[in-house]
Amino acid sequence: MNKEVSALVRPIKDAKSILLTGHVSPDGDNLGSMLALKLMVEQLGKKVTIVIDDSIPDCFSFLAGIDEIKEYEADLTVDVDLTIVVDSSNLERIARVEELIKEEPIINIDHHSDNNSFGDYNLVADVAATVELIYALQEKMEEVELTFEIATALATGLITDTGSFRYSNTSSMTHQIMAELLNYGVDPSLIAKEVLETNSYQNLILRGKVLQNLQVDTTGKIAWLKVSQEMLEEIGADLEDTTGLVNYPRTLKGAEVGILFKEIEQEEIRVGLRSNNYLQVNQVAHLFDGGGHPRAAGCTINLKLDEAEEQLINAVKEQLAKDKSKPSEGRD
Ligand code: 5GP
Ligand code: MN
Repeated sequence: MNKEVSALVRPIKDAKSILLTGHVSPDGDNLGSMLALKLMVEQLGKKVTIVIDDSIPDCFSFLAGIDEIKEYEADLTVDVDLTIVVDSSNLERIARVEELIKEEPIINIDHHSDNNSFGDYNLVADVAATVELIYALQEKMEEVELTFEIATALATGLITDTGSFRYSNTSSMTHQIMAELLNYGVDPSLIAKEVLETNSYQNLILRGKVLQNLQVDTTGKIAWLKVSQEMLEEIGADLEDTTGLVNYPRTLKGAEVGILFKEIEQEEIRVGLRSNNYLQVNQVAHLFDGGGHPRAAGCTINLKLDEAEEQLINAVKEQLAKDKSKPSEGRD
């Protein structure tokens, strides 16, 4: 990995103006990686524009520079000589931001095992969060200093992608980096409060309603939840109020896999998959043109809610039959 990290220093130093982007449905790792990298390369005098094709959840508003992130618009133009894509296994994950990329080289920094190496430079490694790679890059750029703001952005990525250091992707390196970030004044309790422990009223009410309808297959290994547009309307909630719901079903005692179905539109169902010990949920997601990690993945199915549910649950059953005979494999 050392070599791949070092290989990024030259193209970044040679660039004058950089486009930074990441995946839709931005999470703490995606945003933390982009914002930390922005603050880092600004120290080198670079002009940085961050664009993503989605809105930003309110819970990240404490991050320095978050207000400067632009949401993609059709008439947006950027004049850049380098593009950096973070936390995204392929270019489809950045949606319409791909239209802004012209002839300039692309740097791809990611930790998904299904990354397709779309960059001219690829820093892809099996680490808990993309921010670990941004941290490694900072160490290689002597002129760039860690600051409280950069450290807070990096720590946010570590905390969110490891479920506060509880998931199986957490390594000793993850803890070592976090320990170093604490030396820069990072306040993990504040990050946890902002991102994980503050819920809208609608989120809590929705959670109650959705959990009441928890479904479990006959073996008890597959548990799932559904959020329909009708439920959201009834409560006056929106899709942002579904945050955190995906983590509940796999906590059912005896369950191996937990799934959340969200009706975005009538024939657009967003699916979040999580597993505990052995089921490779990214293999299921791949069947529906999605992807992710062995223990956390997602996909979008263009069918009605009940049809998407049937197809996906059948695919999970087939994957269960394949994976249960194998020893535990892969990390979150
Ligand atoms: P989440 O369920 O939190 O949206 O995503 C879980 C993990 O799977 C994340 O690492 C996310 O980047 C990845 N993921 C989610 N949806 C997709 C998708 O449609 N395609 C790919 N390639 N990865 C996805
Ligand atoms: Mn990530």
